[in-house]
Amino acid sequence: MENFEFHAPRELADVYALLDEHEYDARLIAGGTSLVTFMKQQLVQPDHLIHLGKVSALRGVDIIDGELVVKALTTYRELETHPLVLEQAPQIAEVLGHVATIRIRESATIGGGLSQGDSAQDGPGLWLLLNARVVLSSSSGQREVAIGDFFEDYFTTVTEPNELLTEIRIPLPPANAGFAYSKFLPRSEDDYAAVSAAALVTISKDGKIESARLTLGSVAPTPIRADTDSLVGQPTDTPLIDTVAESLRERVDPLDDVRGSAAYKTDMAVVFARRTLQLAIERAPR
Ligand SMILES: Cc1cc2nc3c(=O)[nH]c(=O)nc-3n(C[C@H](O)[C@H](O)[C@H](O)COP(=O)(O)OP(=O)(O)OC[C@H]3O[C@@H](n4cnc5c(N)ncnc54)[C@H](O)[C@@H]3O)c2cc1C
Repeated sequence: MENFEFHAPRELADVYALLDEHEYDARLIAGGTSLVTFMKQQLVQPDHLIHLGKVSALRGVDIIDGELVVKALTTYRELETHPLVLEQAPQIAEVLGHVATIRIRESATIGGGLSQGDSAQDGPGLWLLLNARVVLSSSSGQREVAIGDFFEDYFTTVTEPNELLTEIRIPLPPANAGFAYSKFLPRSEDDYAAVSAAALVTISKDGKIESARLTLGSVAPTPIRADTDSLVGQPTDTPLIDTVAESLRERVDPLDDVRGSAAYKTDMAVVFARRTLQLAIERAPR
């Protein structure tokens, strides 16, 4: 690892000033679970490391105007076990429980996970499913970015070098929604997904699909959202579920890697999309 200067500001204004001063020569560090590995592998060699751990303005979880507002330094474990999440958005706790191990979830932060821009993580597909927005802040002010516009490419987000992610705003899922999350793990329980799928469905009083959302992770440079419009108004056993799942074959673009070939992952994306959608439909209250 190369030498670097370590900064530990306490105020957001000081973080902004350091980012303005050092821009591309600086890296923010939150839990360090990804960044330290990248630094050890010399994939990233910052001259300045800006530690966020002492910035109290980056801590906290709240519900404001029907949205769960999660500050960037919240760890996965804090969010997974937070009473507001367990009561009002248990889907989040369910998915975060699949991230690595408890030890990693105790350190890894929501802001660090998002900023890593890795669609193989469990978060990106979930945040896309829930139509979340992130807040990026700098000395010039704040901007809110829809999650669908946030991820640009492998390990790349729209965050500018002088910005940091300060919070994520997540509209609460409807209380009557059925939810399912599938993480296909061909290797070990604490691995990244080869394919992941998340679905959220509501059923109307007359037993028809009222709304349906489906997202996939690990199968393209960014998480992807399936087009599920055709399912609305259909019976719960509609053959269009197969059509929606099959249509993803053209949308996914997975990597050949240790978790499987691109062709295999493409097949699994279709299988897991269909199963996850069916499970969310089954679980949706009538
Ligand atoms: C062994 C192992 C197994 C894992 N398995 C999984 C898994 O199964 N599923 C999964 O989803 N993830 C998995 N992960 C990844 C883990 O979720 C990420 O490492 C973690 O979310 C990153 O958060 P962090 O706080 O540690 O970020 P850091 O490592 O501190 O930072 C990551 C990146 O984000 C930047 N950054 C940090 N905070 C901010 C901010 N507020 N604003 C802007 N940029 C910021 C940093 O500069 C860096 O580029 C695994 C990691 C390890 C080490």
